[in-house]
Amino acid sequence: MVVSVLSMDEFEIIKNYFKRESFRSDVLLGIGDDGAVLDLKALDNENLVMSTDTLVENVHFPSSINAGLIAKRALCTNLSDTAAMGAVPLWFTLSLTLPEENTTTAWLTDFSQGLFEEAEKFGCTLVGGDTVRGHLSITITICGKAPDKEVLKRTTAEPNDMIFVSGTLGDGRAALSLIQQKKCVSERLLYRFYCPQPMIDLGVELRNLVSSCIDISDGLVSDLTHICNASKVSAVLDVSKLPVHEEVKQLFPDDFAEFGLYGGDDYQLCFTAPESEKAKIINAGMRSNSRITPIGRIVKSMGSNKVMLEGMDVNENISGYRHFG
Ligand code: ADP
Ligand code: MG
Repeated sequence: MVVSVLSMDEFEIIKNYFKRESFRSDVLLGIGDDGAVLDLKALDNENLVMSTDTLVENVHFPSSINAGLIAKRALCTNLSDTAAMGAVPLWFTLSLTLPEENTTTAWLTDFSQGLFEEAEKFGCTLVGGDTVRGHLSITITICGKAPDKEVLKRTTAEPNDMIFVSGTLGDGRAALSLIQQKKCVSERLLYRFYCPQPMIDLGVELRNLVSSCIDISDGLVSDLTHICNASKVSAVLDVSKLPVHEEVKQLFPDDFAEFGLYGGDDYQLCFTAPESEKAKIINAGMRSNSRITPIGRIVKSMGSNKVMLEGMDVNENISGYRHFG
């Protein structure tokens, strides 16, 4: 039966939808007390890697979509940051702001099912959170682990390094465009948008091979610019090498390169490495079922020219997504 949850207080919501027996034995005390107690032996002497991200309705996902997909998207996009650090996820918290209207038992059932399904797939478990009233938003904080000195960072790209990306680019932008125009969207594109699979296995494989790494959330050029700024280098991209899926090329024959360069929501990894590591990197990709494509080179800093396309300066018209400014 679908009933509004207005009659349920936050404690009932937590008990009915989020309190579950954890499948991880390192959760000594989970949901229900003032704090979670976690056994740090789970770190195996590795470092704790923490990241957090917030998704807001109508900014990061359309309001009309199924709650299970909202939950999956929230967790997957957060796990993408874990992947970009080369870390393995362990535990996460969920801060949920729920509107009074539209929050039904069916919505909460779908949301929690989607969340737990994806969490189990990636071996991490919900250990706490907060539940309040307001405009729908979801904040997830993830704790993962990675060995000392093996985390993947943005600050360490070097001139002459090759630039690589995983998977295909432009899918997220293509899906969003079709959804917004209320056009038919293929299963593949829908899945890429709502359930962008975090590249956890690839991130782990890339430890000790790459010089820097970032996940592509705001668009390739925008995110590669972060690596360039952090590492004080510039980048030259060969636009003809961008791995854009045939489907996107056919659907958007005039825009696919722009989607690949600037479109957000792809959640692939972009990373740099010396050419000597190329073969090992391609093998690492095969072991984790990811296609890896070399797309350019890191060069010495060209001042404000951060990312160049075949000699063209695109820094002036960066159109990756920015929330402010
Ligand atoms: P407090 O008032 O002490 O902050 P809360 O009522 O916010 O406690 O939370 C009670 C318990 O439920 C805590 O263990 C908290 O971590 C957990 N919790 C609250 N909201 C969520 C949620 N959305 N998902 C998972 N756990 C939650
Ligand atoms: Mg609280």
